[in-house]
Amino acid sequence: MAKIAINIATGSLQQEEMIVGIDLGTTNSLVAIIHPESRKPVALQEHNSSLPAGQAGSLVPSVVHFSDNGSVLVGEEAKKFLVDDPARTIFSAKRLMGKTYNDVKNNTTSLAYKIIDDENRLVKVQVGDQFYSPVDLSSLILKELKKQAEHILKTPVSKAVITVPAYFNDAQRQATRDAGKLAGLDVLRIINEPTAASLAYGFGLHKDENKTIAVYDLGGGTFDISILHISNGIFEVLSTNGDTYLGGDDLDNALVDHWIEVLGLTGSAQEKTHRQMLRLKAEEAKKQLSTQDAYESAYEGMQLSVTRSVFESRIGPILERTITSCSQALKDAGLAKADIQEVVMVGGSTRVPLVKKRVSEFFGKPVNDTVNPDEVVALGAAIQADILAGNTKDVLLLDVTPLSLGLETMGGLMDVLLPRNSKIPTKAARQYTTYKDGQSGMKIAVYQGERDMVKDNRRLAEFNLTGIPAMPAGLPKVEVSFLINADGILVVKAKELRSGIEQSIEVKPQYGLTDEDVEKMLLDSMTHAKEDMEVRALTEAKTEAEQLLQTTEKFIQKNFKSLTPQELQETSLAMQALQLSLDMNDKNLVQAKTEELNQVSRPYAERLMDEAIQQTMKGNKIDQL
Ligand code: ADP
Ligand code: MG
Repeated sequence: MAKIAINIATGSLQQEEMIVGIDLGTTNSLVAIIHPESRKPVALQEHNSSLPAGQAGSLVPSVVHFSDNGSVLVGEEAKKFLVDDPARTIFSAKRLMGKTYNDVKNNTTSLAYKIIDDENRLVKVQVGDQFYSPVDLSSLILKELKKQAEHILKTPVSKAVITVPAYFNDAQRQATRDAGKLAGLDVLRIINEPTAASLAYGFGLHKDENKTIAVYDLGGGTFDISILHISNGIFEVLSTNGDTYLGGDDLDNALVDHWIEVLGLTGSAQEKTHRQMLRLKAEEAKKQLSTQDAYESAYEGMQLSVTRSVFESRIGPILERTITSCSQALKDAGLAKADIQEVVMVGGSTRVPLVKKRVSEFFGKPVNDTVNPDEVVALGAAIQADILAGNTKDVLLLDVTPLSLGLETMGGLMDVLLPRNSKIPTKAARQYTTYKDGQSGMKIAVYQGERDMVKDNRRLAEFNLTGIPAMPAGLPKVEVSFLINADGILVVKAKELRSGIEQSIEVKPQYGLTDEDVEKMLLDSMTHAKEDMEVRALTEAKTEAEQLLQTTEKFIQKNFKSLTPQELQETSLAMQALQLSLDMNDKNLVQAKTEELNQVSRPYAERLMDEAIQQTMKGNKIDQL
């Protein structure tokens, strides 16, 4: 077994710094801080907000618009373009975080913008001739939040705690961290949304507290339920359930359906246009019905009305789906309803009275709904930020890693396994694979630091995992795990899972870092964030392109006879163009040429695949039972 023992320095955070809490939501995002005088968490909002009453001025819609002339709008300004210029207006980018095209392809019909259909690659959005990753898009939202916060607070904001759904995996959390960094933020910690919401209600802040909490979060387009257990200030997620395509939008649609029916517009030529226009009215009505019994308005010379009870009968089935998820989450956690001590309401859609009623009926107890449900997650993030800043003395803060720890991957990129500020003790593991056919060894190089290229970080150790049995590229599964024990000693192990081979090496402890070293490394990463991310994006695009060139080359050699002369020529041209683009150091160009080669090869690759399948079907006789 490969084993490295490294003594890494652990650092504590600077005192009394302004650290903000950010809720980076699918529909809306916002920033909160602990008010310096009242010591209470508050959401930041622009004064003289021009928003209609009832709509919190603290919310920034998570929408990005790229105008023709190259300018970028974020928030309310961008939201206006959802109807007028949908192809250049990106919403719900959070759903794409850390996902491949295969993960999301069944849910792209509702999207008016273009997603590159490249199977197993990470999702990219194309606007004109530019390509954006979900990280790029989220960073634009975070940049806007940072700008607004700086404007309101009249001080630079560079440190943040950002929340993510409890079900986010490692890749999605890392993507969120990257987005923060790209926006010029030092992301001190990524915390779970339900944990933040619980903190905002004061749960988990006291020693010896032992509680089981259900957090019900119904937002704009997503629903999730998390069951948490808190003991001695440590939050453990026992189970999560939900639906990333269920939320307030569905309540709006239910109302649109109702109006289309009663106005006799079903099946009319303009049904689609009516639906589009009625959606805004529906959201307005839904919000009004949260506090009033009826809604009335005019629409195209017609009377538009609905009562709360009609609305409730329409949305009942949607809410039942959320209740089914609650049941399942309880079951997965191995708990009964009676084991839940607190039920916390999160998300704008929990303002709907029927939602609270149903959830409270289900759990058999009143729900916690006194904190603004749009803001509760950000408020909790601000509390966590304050704890990290060392301002809340009575809360125990566990030791943390001062700098990120990771491995070198293709192209000299730093792949972080343990982000900085991970609580100690901690462990993380990730699987890697080979790049070349028959590759028998793999270099495991461990680095510490915040920069995207390993050459800019500190190398802690290196060893070779050898003796991987010959397999095609991509097939071996090498699991590398990092474990930091309570003393701050890092142990790295590598194992090829298919063959079971392990390698063993011991490295003498290295010197720890001084506070100044850590400070300098952090500062460097902030100053170089933009260029680092650009180099990373370019390196990733080039690695992808090189892999595509290799597989296409192999494919052509193998299937030469089955392709038409035109297909061969087009492929050869597209390959040349892609090869040339590799030297130009332009990420968008490499991606565009990669996409072009994909476009050329996809049809015949699919055709040959179908033929191959038919061939096998013919040859394979299946025994009848
Ligand atoms: P997310 O966490 O997904 O970003 P939010 O928590 O901000 O979303 O919730 C947004 C949803 O809340 C929208 O569908 C919006 O229409 C709905 N919403 C906001 N205010 C109200 C209200 N007063 N009554 C009912 N729904 C509301
Ligand atoms: Mg939310």
